[in-house]
Amino acid sequence: MSKKRWFSGRSGLTIRNLICVLLLLVGMVLSSLWWPAPTIAQSPSGELRIATRLLPPFAMDDRGQYTGFSMELWQKVAAELGKTSKIVVYPTLPEMLSAVQEQKVDAAIAAISITAEREQIFDFSYPMFNSGLQILVRSPQKSGFMPNLLRDLFSPMFLQLFAIALGMVVVAAHIIWLLERRHQKSAIDEAYFPGIFEAAWWAAATLATQAEEMPKGAFGRLMAVLWMFIAVVFVAYFTATVTTSMTVQTLQGDIKGLDDLQNRTVATTAGSTAANFLRSKQIKTLEVDKIESAYDALLKQRADAVVFDAPVLMYYASREGKGNVQLLGEMLREESYGIALASNSPYRKPINSALLKLRENGAYQALYDKWFKPYADRGAN
Ligand code: GLU
Repeated sequence: MSKKRWFSGRSGLTIRNLICVLLLLVGMVLSSLWWPAPTIAQSPSGELRIATRLLPPFAMDDRGQYTGFSMELWQKVAAELGKTSKIVVYPTLPEMLSAVQEQKVDAAIAAISITAEREQIFDFSYPMFNSGLQILVRSPQKSGFMPNLLRDLFSPMFLQLFAIALGMVVVAAHIIWLLERRHQKSAIDEAYFPGIFEAAWWAAATLATQAEEMPKGAFGRLMAVLWMFIAVVFVAYFTATVTTSMTVQTLQGDIKGLDDLQNRTVATTAGSTAANFLRSKQIKTLEVDKIESAYDALLKQRADAVVFDAPVLMYYASREGKGNVQLLGEMLREESYGIALASNSPYRKPINSALLKLRENGAYQALYDKWFKPYADRGAN
């Protein structure tokens, strides 16, 4: 028995089969018109258009030459892809991401954090950098002498010590008034008023080791010796507590971590993951386009801290910001950067292969060391 095979022999070419094939072809053409295959608009010359935003040390414009970790990584990726590319700089993060979404560019590379929310809209390459959010504050000595002094004088600790001293004076004044009021030569009046004020003045002056008059009666003098002894101990305690607290504040500043950011103004860039993070913690945020404006707000005391990407802050703190700002140790949240592409971009796979290749051949590490090793070592001090 001979088996029937597709298009073998005349039996395959019936009218019915031809109509089926025609219908299939028409269907394919129509479906491609309704659901076009995802494509990325190519620039006429075939070169890739790559969006970035200037954010040292990831993307910088060095007199028309783009440098920085991300820019140089992209040059290496493009070389792997065998493509030339044109860099398009966007002023803000939202504008750069919109350009990717609207396919005005083929990809974006800067310091773009991969997030679940962005993943819904974009495709991301493999993570290309481990980052995270950190806090930058002014160096404490930059707060000025007078504001520091006023802040210390009205600090809860100072007011507490003052209240204790006042209580002690009131008690001592009553004891002295009771012991001395009847004594003939005493300078303290017998009547409660003004006697108690005279006694309180004596007690306060003794506490400050300034008393001129001494009680005249034996019990009064005994009490005076005891009170002078208490005064010496109290003054020593007071001095020690105030000095320690001032030294600690000078060394640490008054923002030590995330908890101290409540009721403060924190600067960061608009649309960034840091802005989102601060909003979720209900922290008052000053959103600016350029990270340099956030540094400026911090230095001019329009903001109390900057929360942003750790490597970016570290780079600033170890260069232009050196001596004026300091980074707090705590990492608020880990993040990874990726190259952002339009959804279903045909470039994702080749870019990922290129990234893997650059990691395997050591080129990635060399680039990392070039940009992050020198100041990571310096940043520690
Ligand atoms: N890593 C930040 C983000 O993706 C960078 C923000 C910025 O470029 O200003 O949100």
